[in-house]
Amino acid sequence: LEPKEEFEHKTLAMDVMRPRRSDPPLSVLTQSGMNVEQVEAVIADTSYSGFPIVMSQESQRLVGFVLRRDLVISIENARLCQEGIVGASQVLFTEHTPAQLHGGPPPLNLRSIMDLSPLAITDHTPMDITVDIFRKLGLRQCLVTQNGRLLGIITKKDILKHMAQMTNRDPESILFN
Ligand code: ADP
Repeated sequence: LEPKEEFEHKTLAMDVMRPRRSDPPLSVLTQSGMNVEQVEAVIADTSYSGFPIVMSQESQRLVGFVLRRDLVISIENARLCQEGIVGASQVLFTEHTPAQLHGGPPPLNLRSIMDLSPLAITDHTPMDITVDIFRKLGLRQCLVTQNGRLLGIITKKDILKHMAQMTNRDPESILFN
């Protein structure tokens, strides 16, 4: 089958993205307002390769994307080497870092490990176009938004699984044929 025919029924990004309706919500970090302990809890409670950063839980406006492994290494390093970083330190992904927040310990700014412009598509983007984007840009994941609000995420594996389901083909042969 050619890629075009596989998507005759015009599967959309919203059909492939996670979370599904029955899943727990997307695991995100906020650009401010979380401390080191809370970020460590998100890391410990999930196994995702990365986390979208949003302006706030209420707005769900996309600010960036951070890889799990970069987060783990940076927090570990900061706890060991950076003066004053403790569980109660605020984690920031903002442009400016105040010396102190609310009289607490010094904050930890992790903006340098954040992807500032992760690729985002709308929930109505047809999957044939999405697959094209993944192929051409060599993406591992992309984010799905609706009217500027973050809705979900699609990984390369999500696409491969979806395509294999539709065509009964070996998933590995699909993105790299
Ligand atoms: P892979 O799809 O390669 O296993 P992940 O481990 O990052 O990559 O993702 C596992 C599943 O969880 C995928 O279906 C993906 O869409 C979803 N997912 C990835 N990141 C998140 C996240 N931050 N919150 C919720 N679900 C996620």
